[in-house]
Amino acid sequence: MQFENNREFALKLDAEDELSKYRDQFIFPKVDGKEVIYFVGNSLGLQPKSAGKYVDEIMQAWAELGVEGHFKAEKSWWDYHERFADKLAKVVGAKPSEVTVMNTLTVNLHLLMVSFYRPSGKRFKIICEEKAFPSDQYMLASQARFHGYDPSEAIVEVKKRNGENNFRTEDVLQTIKEVGEECALILIGGVNYYSGQVFDMQKITEAGHEIGAFVGWDLAHAAGNIELKLNDWKVDFAAWCSYKYMNSGPGNASGCYINEKYHNLKDLPRFEGWWGHNKKRRFLMEPEFQPEPDANAWQISNVPVLALAPYLASLEMFDEVGMPALIRKRNKIVAYLEFVLQEIDKEVESSFEIITPPDQNERGTQISVFLHGEGKEIFNYLMKNGIFVDWREPNVIRLAPAPFYCSFSDVFNFGQVLKQGILGKKE
Ligand SMILES: *Cc1c(COP(=O)(O)O)cnc(C)c1O
Repeated sequence: MQFENNREFALKLDAEDELSKYRDQFIFPKVDGKEVIYFVGNSLGLQPKSAGKYVDEIMQAWAELGVEGHFKAEKSWWDYHERFADKLAKVVGAKPSEVTVMNTLTVNLHLLMVSFYRPSGKRFKIICEEKAFPSDQYMLASQARFHGYDPSEAIVEVKKRNGENNFRTEDVLQTIKEVGEECALILIGGVNYYSGQVFDMQKITEAGHEIGAFVGWDLAHAAGNIELKLNDWKVDFAAWCSYKYMNSGPGNASGCYINEKYHNLKDLPRFEGWWGHNKKRRFLMEPEFQPEPDANAWQISNVPVLALAPYLASLEMFDEVGMPALIRKRNKIVAYLEFVLQEIDKEVESSFEIITPPDQNERGTQISVFLHGEGKEIFNYLMKNGIFVDWREPNVIRLAPAPFYCSFSDVFNFGQVLKQGILGKKE
């Protein structure tokens, strides 16, 4: 499609947008009384209007039923998390039995390490990407130390080549080959939080299995953003937070995927608690743990129902729309954003450098742009003018026009304000 950088064209794209009606189902923050353009759904997704209702339902049931709400609430609490499996499985390409929701992301990664990072003998190394999200780096380093290893020996980072903005699959595969039978685990962010690059999860998972390592993915920036086929790709485990593209609310619960081949394995270690116990016998308070037959065996505490409520509201919207429609719009709106950036770049004679891969199959919703020659003032200018974007040192803005609630007009308007901001500074 031949794009144009003008208002009429953006409005025409909005008119053709099959998801345009969903914009109205989200609550937008305001600046100077005007709804903002929200390009930070990769950091904290907007609140669906239905979220409050789901929370209220629980508050109401708690008020009216007290403890009886566990069983008698319309959406009973004792099995509240089970309402997620079918729908979430579709989002991540898994079987419902392989998916559950619990805790928060970094906590879940630690818990999954109990099952999937079990170094022994010369097999003790972990492969990850360089400059992984800090929480993942801290998690891995502390796991290595916990098992008695020096992180600088145990952790092998795949590097980008000098002068390049993205990782090359061939380099990841090469590292996997080199580490070989010393590798216990491969854990990488499926979508890189800084550049927006999507890793070839299928190929990397396969290569990891060839050397006998477990392969897990941190899907914080992938869940609800890109197509995932965790079961087809034979991924061992994965976890993601739900407050980014999945719009569940600040700091909210994490989703977990554990491949079915690890369910019901007696010798696989796991930290356990009563919510992972056979649900039919959970309240008999028996001394011996009988695991649930699926990913729920990894559950520990009774579930934080109030936190899960807005996640469920949001997940139902994902289920209604489906990932294919979200991805269709995502590809178009991200391509339009890329085009608008290139046009503005020419007009202001700046030198933007888009560091996100140009290929649709190697990126999701996020475009990261190096604003050479511009400083943090431009970020402040955008924010002051009601355009929420994300700033990362040294000079990168991350833009994520989430397909659920961003419009093509948002993209056009963003370009205009960006242009004013840069030209205004030069005057
Ligand atoms: C957002 C993000 C996190 C955040 O972890 P929490 O435990 O939810 O605070 C961790 N890892 C990655 C890769 C992320 O993008």
